Amino acid sequence: MAKDYYQILGVPKTASAEEIKKAFHKLAHQYHPDKASGNEAKFKEVNEAYQILGDKDKRAQYDRFGNADFWTNQTGPGNMGGFDFSQFYRGGENNGFDINFGDFGDVFGDLFGFRNNRPNRKTNNQGRDLEISIKTDFLTAVFGGEHVLTFEKLVTCPACQGKGSQAGTSAKTCPDCGGRGFINRLQRTMLGNINSQIVCPTCEGEGSIISQPCSQCHGEGRILRKQSLTIKIPAGVSNGQTIKFAGQGEAGLRGGPNGDLYVKVKVQPHPRLKREGDDITSTANISFRQAALGDKIKIETVDGPALLKIPPGTQSGQVIILRGKGVPKLRGYGRGNHLIEVKVTTPTKLTKEQKEALEKLD
Ligand SMILES: [Zn+2]
Ligand SMILES: [Zn+2]
Repeated sequence: MAKDYYQILGVPKTASAEEIKKAFHKLAHQYHPDKASGNEAKFKEVNEAYQILGDKDKRAQYDRFGNADFWTNQTGPGNMGGFDFSQFYRGGENNGFDINFGDFGDVFGDLFGFRNNRPNRKTNNQGRDLEISIKTDFLTAVFGGEHVLTFEKLVTCPACQGKGSQAGTSAKTCPDCGGRGFINRLQRTMLGNINSQIVCPTCEGEGSIISQPCSQCHGEGRILRKQSLTIKIPAGVSNGQTIKFAGQGEAGLRGGPNGDLYVKVKVQPHPRLKREGDDITSTANISFRQAALGDKIKIETVDGPALLKIPPGTQSGQVIILRGKGVPKLRGYGRGNHLIEVKVTTPTKLTKEQKEALEKLD
């Protein structure tokens, strides 16, 4: 289904990147599901539109094809937070991949994998999870490295320290639920009366009511800020994998726990080296003479240039293995191998002498 993202953000097709960003912020604030004016469906739609129009390349793609089917996935991002970038939900390479990296957080093969296994959110004032896609070069993915992320997120309001009350004032205990955040309600059903607990409508489950909201965050306890975060990319990460950074998502509502940050890694291809799991593959072209008599040739490896010994009598298509010259294993120790496929070039222009020499073969 084609969606008009320009219409969703209320901007003309000619809008500048700045105008699109402004429109997105205004609408994201307006529709944020935690707000009284919130509307989760609209909020997601606005996020989806900004994900496309806020990115130069995707916007150009969208303008060319006229719709966003190329980018979206019908299963949708579910309840995954403020930056529901639909294309992150396309499958990765290692389904269900799930390990703990301590400092790094967890690396997942794709978002479906962890979404299915994820525990339910503990509280309803928890901040949203964020998902960000980064591009990393081939060798950084092999050996690991750092990446500086710059992004906007809701952070704890410094003026009220997340409490939501104007400095010098404090929230009052909700009179309707006595601070419990829920009330008992007797419901009549076909099976008789059922006593159930519902979220207190007066305080919306908070247990307290802010009499004078903080002027900076309007009582939310958090504000949108541009953030810079240096993350570690673990050695051996592969294209399509997602790294979890616990607690680096958005600040919770009025001091609630932070959401998590998920960074999806897109590995840029290398002009000459390829990756197959933990192995590196490449091809080396050698001459007919080198194949027959053997030689040493210069090749490129992830560790830099190296000399490869071509044994005499090497056939075209033969694979020479450099053990331990592959990718460090993400799980466990050691490295994969570098596999070099040798291609023999048959000579096309021969001198009379060369022809005579070859005639003597067989
Ligand atoms: Zn505040
Ligand atoms: Zn209440």
